[in-house]
Amino acid sequence: MNIPQSNLPRVVIIGGGFAGINLAKTLANKNIQVVLIDKHNYHTFQPLLYQVSSSGLEPDSIAYPLRKIIKKHKTSFFRLAEVEQVLPDSNQIITNIGSLNYDYLVIATGTKTNYFGNKEIESNSMPMKSVPQALNIRSLILQNFEKAAIANSKEEREAFLNFVIVGAGPTGVELAGAIAELKNNILPRDYRDLNPSDMHIYLLEGADRVLPPMSKQASIKAEQFLKGLGVQVHCNTFVKAYDGTNVTTNSDLAMQSETLIWAAGVTGAPIGGLNADALMDRVNRYRVNSYNQVEGYDTIFALGDIALMASEDYPMGHPQVAQPAIQQGKLLGQNLLRLIDKKPLKPFVYNDKGSMATIGRNKAVVDLKNYKFGGFFAWFIWMFVHLMSLVGFRNRVIVLFNWTGFFLNC
Ligand SMILES: Cc1cc2nc3c(=O)[nH]c(=O)nc-3n(C[C@H](O)[C@H](O)[C@H](O)COP(=O)(O)OP(=O)(O)OC[C@H]3O[C@@H](n4cnc5c(N)ncnc54)[C@H](O)[C@@H]3O)c2cc1C
Repeated sequence: MNIPQSNLPRVVIIGGGFAGINLAKTLANKNIQVVLIDKHNYHTFQPLLYQVSSSGLEPDSIAYPLRKIIKKHKTSFFRLAEVEQVLPDSNQIITNIGSLNYDYLVIATGTKTNYFGNKEIESNSMPMKSVPQALNIRSLILQNFEKAAIANSKEEREAFLNFVIVGAGPTGVELAGAIAELKNNILPRDYRDLNPSDMHIYLLEGADRVLPPMSKQASIKAEQFLKGLGVQVHCNTFVKAYDGTNVTTNSDLAMQSETLIWAAGVTGAPIGGLNADALMDRVNRYRVNSYNQVEGYDTIFALGDIALMASEDYPMGHPQVAQPAIQQGKLLGQNLLRLIDKKPLKPFVYNDKGSMATIGRNKAVVDLKNYKFGGFFAWFIWMFVHLMSLVGFRNRVIVLFNWTGFFLNC
C-alpha cells in the first residue's frame, strides 16, 4: 500500500465517517503514524443526504475530500481502499489494494441498509446511505415526473407520481417533508403539465408513531407538520412485498408506485476475521468495553455506529447517530496517546446533546434533555446545528446560500 515504514506506532483507521475523521484529527501531528482508509475518497455528511435526493443540495456540499482533512497532518496517510479482512494474529489487514500491518487497528465502518432479509425489496427499492444512492433517488424522482407527463392512463400516471417512503425515523420524515415541498413548490412551477393533486407521498412506519426514537411530543408535532404538507402517514404498517410497482403491506393499504425509498433501518458493516464473540450477530455491531476496545482484543478498537458499548444507561448500546461517533472518536484519540504513554485510559461517557428532525422548508422538532419544542424556532436551531456540523467552510457557505434561496423560494 506504499505506506513508509517508521519508528512511530502505526494506527490504522478503517472508515472516514464521523468517528474516523474525529479520531484522525485528534491524532494529528502527534508521534504516531496514522493511516486512514476508506472505500470513498470523501467524508459523507449523511444527515443531509435527503436534500441531495430531493434536489435541495448538490452532492459536493455534503461530501468532503478525506485527503483535505489530513493534508496538514505530517505523519498521516490516506488510502482509497475497501478493507476485506482483519488478520488479528499477524496484526494485519487485507484490502483490495494490498495488505498492511498495524500496531493499533480502529474499525469505524458504520452501517449499511437493512432489508431484514427481504431480497425482493432489496432489489426493487431505493436505499439512501451514500451520495451515489442519493443521486439515484434524485434522478428517479425527476425521471418519474417526466414519465408521468407522457403517461397514457391515469393509473400509469399515478404510479409515477406515488412516492412511498418506508420508515418514519428522522431520515424518512425529513425525506417525506422534502418531497412534499417538491410537490407543493416545484411541480406547479416547473411541471405545468402535471397536476400536483395527482402526486401522493406515503410515509409508512411499522411502529405506532413517527420518529420512534424521539419523544411522543416530537412525534405528534412531526405528524401534524407532515400532514399539513400533504404527506399520508400510516403507522403500524409494514411493507411485505414490492415488485417494482405493486406495494403490499400488512394491512389493507396497497398502492402502485414506481418509487419506493427504503429508510426502514440499518445494520452494522463489520469486517471479517475477528472472533465470533466479538460481534453481536443480531445487529452486526462489535462488542466493545468502555474504552472502545473490541471484546477479546487489546489492540483492536471499534467506534461509532459499528460499536456496541453496553452501559447502565444504554444497555443496547448508544444510538446510531453522529454524536456518539464524534465523541468516541475524540476520546479514543486521547486514549491511544495515553496507552502509548502507558497512562491509564478514560472510560467513555456519552454526552447526549439531544435530537432533532426537520420537516419541510421551515419546521422542525427538537428534543433537548429538559425542553422539547417544534416549529419555526426549532427549524432555526436545526439549521444552525447542521450548518456548523458540516465539514469544510466552503461547504457551509454554499449550503447557507442554498438554504437562503430555498427559504425565499427563489
Ligand atoms: C440518511 C441518513 C440520515 C442521517 N441523519 C442523521 C441525523 O440527522 N443526525 C444524526 O446524528 N445522525 C444521522 N444519521 C446517522 C449518522 O450519519 C451516523 O450515526 C454516523 O454517520 C455514524 O458515524 P460512523 O463514523 O460510525 O460511520 P459512517 O459515518 O457511516 O462512516 C463509515 C465510513 O466507513 C467506510 N467504510 C465502510 N466499510 C468499509 C470498508 N470495508 N473499507 C473501507 N471503508 C469502509 C464508509 O465508506 C464510511 O465512509 C443519518 C444516517 C443516514 C444514513
